[in-house]
Amino acid sequence: MVSSYFKGILLNLGLDEERIEVLENKGGIVEDEFEGMRYLRLKDSARSLRRGTVVFDEHNIILGFPHIKRVVQLENGIRRAFKRKPFYVEEKVDGYNVRVAKIGEKILVFTRGGFVCPFTTERIEDFITLDFFKDYPNMVLCGEMAGPESPYLVEGPPYVKEDIQFFLFDIQEKKTGRSLPVEERLKLAEEYGIPSVEVFGLYDLSRIDELHALIDRLTKEKREGIVMKSPDMKKIVKYVTPYANINDIKIGARIFFDLPHGYFMQRIKRLAFYLAERKIRGEEFDEYARALGKVLLEPFVESIWDISSGDDEIAELFTVRVKKLETAHKMVTHFERLRLKIHIDDIEVLDNGYWRITFKRVYPDATKEMRELWNGHAFVD
Ligand code: ATP
Repeated sequence: MVSSYFKGILLNLGLDEERIEVLENKGGIVEDEFEGMRYLRLKDSARSLRRGTVVFDEHNIILGFPHIKRVVQLENGIRRAFKRKPFYVEEKVDGYNVRVAKIGEKILVFTRGGFVCPFTTERIEDFITLDFFKDYPNMVLCGEMAGPESPYLVEGPPYVKEDIQFFLFDIQEKKTGRSLPVEERLKLAEEYGIPSVEVFGLYDLSRIDELHALIDRLTKEKREGIVMKSPDMKKIVKYVTPYANINDIKIGARIFFDLPHGYFMQRIKRLAFYLAERKIRGEEFDEYARALGKVLLEPFVESIWDISSGDDEIAELFTVRVKKLETAHKMVTHFERLRLKIHIDDIEVLDNGYWRITFKRVYPDATKEMRELWNGHAFVD
């Protein structure tokens, strides 16, 4: 049940009683709590409130981070989105999306779904100086947390060698969710020393050859892709490298049964459009075709062997660094609420007094399905 306090705020935001009730009944709005602070989390969008919006009070409303449209044909995608006008090209960093905001005296970090992330909230001051919020308490820093030691992703970008880092890509106003224009964001990032995603520059359609060359360089460097933004942030589209499509399939194929088939189809589609747009033929085409087959099949077959040869489970291994052990426990509780099955495997104290926690995310349904099939279970296709 949503309390009358939060109901009142939603009514003031223009949602009617009936809509609130429907959302409530289907679990689209949930009242939550973090260290004694109560907030409302929107699991679905409602009017101007995007999915993942969090509401603390009338002023402290942090809108969900908007979806970014994808293009799979770079040249035509740019033509349609920006015509002949200039746009900024930034790196698309492969990590997890966070929104950082000051609520009362606390700095909290929210995940895409609108949960307070206990891990990132504890660590955020290691990555950004919080002075920004003294001067701009009404602003939200949106960025990507990325690196090899992340609680949500098995891999990070190649240039983050250990732990994780924060990369700013947007500054939004509380309550309206409006983004600052790119130049203003870059100026503030510089002024307050907030680390940002790499900005490759201001481009337009006439420089498509340079953008194709950039994609090829990013692929060689094992980076995920680019996000293109009009200077006023009104138009934004993303494009990923063939490397990212193939690597995602490789990571996904180990837990094949736990992912929707669309996960693989989408990435094959993106790769096919890349090969067609760039007219990749001959030896290079064969290399992509071999790589695709291999990344799809090899981890899949290996995971079948793991299951068939004993009581192994399909699982992924993660490590994170925390300041307090209590934070690791809060993370486990957070995962349990997301109905994920987690085992802490190892706890080690580091030289700086932090703790390195290694945990396993187990996939019981995928394990069960694979075991049944291996054991000869007959089924109708
Ligand atoms: P959607 O955009 O539809 O929600 P998604 O959640 O599947 O898609 P991705 O396809 O990975 O996410 O792409 C969007 C995400 O990319 C953003 O939510 C953000 O976290 C991340 N990102 C990384 N770098 C940037 C950047 N420079 N600008 C904007 N977003 C970026």
